[in-house]
Amino acid sequence: MGADGLRSLSIFGATGSIGEQTVDLLLRAGGAETHKIVALTGGRNIARLAEMARTLRAEIAVCADASGLAELRDRLAGSGVEAAAGTTAIVEAAERPADWVMSAIVGAAGLEPGFRALRHGATLALANKESLVTAGPLLMAEAARHGARILPVDSEHSAIFQALVGEDIAAVERIILTASGGALRDWPLERLAKATVTEALAHPNWAMGQRITIDSASMFNKALEVIETREFFGVAPDQIEVIIHPESLIHSMVAYRDGAIMAHMGAPDMRHSIGYALNWPDRSHLPVARLDLAQVATLTFRAPDLARYPALRLARQVMARRGLAGAAFNAAKEVALDHFLAGGIGFMDMSGVVEATLEALDADLGHENDAMTLEDVQLVDHLARQRAGKIARRQAGEQ
Ligand code: NDP
Repeated sequence: MGADGLRSLSIFGATGSIGEQTVDLLLRAGGAETHKIVALTGGRNIARLAEMARTLRAEIAVCADASGLAELRDRLAGSGVEAAAGTTAIVEAAERPADWVMSAIVGAAGLEPGFRALRHGATLALANKESLVTAGPLLMAEAARHGARILPVDSEHSAIFQALVGEDIAAVERIILTASGGALRDWPLERLAKATVTEALAHPNWAMGQRITIDSASMFNKALEVIETREFFGVAPDQIEVIIHPESLIHSMVAYRDGAIMAHMGAPDMRHSIGYALNWPDRSHLPVARLDLAQVATLTFRAPDLARYPALRLARQVMARRGLAGAAFNAAKEVALDHFLAGGIGFMDMSGVVEATLEALDADLGHENDAMTLEDVQLVDHLARQRAGKIARRQAGEQ
């Protein structure tokens, strides 16, 4: 809380899907009248970043795209908002103290800003699941060292967090992550290899950024979430289950040793979990649809088919390897996704690229060793991107 009594906040990835929904909740909660906005960051959408920074009277706006600085300055002229650009400027913005920080940059680029924000003891609302997948032990240790708190924003992890309130983690038997199954869940297996980007983007329930929507169809998103669960809640890999729940109304469940299962339900709207993290430890009114259970009538579940979703099998391998395997897994997945989006490789080839990258880097991944630095993570990320790029290009050439 600042000297003016206002809670201070920063949003990394403000122009994205999670960022926009965070801004929406902030504006409804009084915007700049009730909050002091420290930093807002974006990637390439300079016009929207400048507009938000003016509305919220941010201290500084930073775009990742260094070539956008002149335009950002221009758009902010006379507003009193500082402008900066580039990856280093984003990390520096994270070093400005704020009480609450939203980490919603997509991909591995989100790790360092969140990591830096923990140093001044901020409450870190973590949407960037890649941070825990690539550097879970490092991030959790940094939070503990500085007395900072990490609150999950991923809807599944927010659901688990809420189902654990007042409970002892030692009484947990299983954590059950629900998955919609994505846009292609009912396609015959043999058709999946030919799925196009447009088809994979047609998510049945959630409106999200492009990359996470494709990752939902391939279940790479769920694979990241399984690893995220292991890192955030500290449970053993074999305590984590995935179940397909096409309605996306139960956001995840915790099964206790007495046989009770606590499920968290709500409409599929990310403002639930963003709002929970924003208002925590209180619950405040949120502008989300209320469930009419009589209307819902039926909830269905089915076990995932591992032949259809090889990403889930790879997540188990990553958890068994520990160390830097998560960083390699995530980087290879990001590269494979880039190649699928660009039309170079097919939908089912993405898991092949990731698996071959993990095998190729096996010796560098520090088995059963949780000791890591940010530099180790960044190095493995770099090596895995190079290797996955080569594998994907070779694959594309063969098609
Ligand atoms: P979007 O793609 O919608 O937004 C990503 C944000 O990051 C944008 O502000 C974008 O800027 C910015 N950005 C992109 N690349 C970089 C970079 N290299 N450096 C700095 N900033 C960059 O993503 P989502 O909002 O969908 O997802 C954000 C995170 O939240 C991801 O980790 C995702 O897995 C997670 N998440 C998302 C959910 C959702 O419903 N969307 C649900 C649960 C988790 P710009 O747009 O200006 O280019």
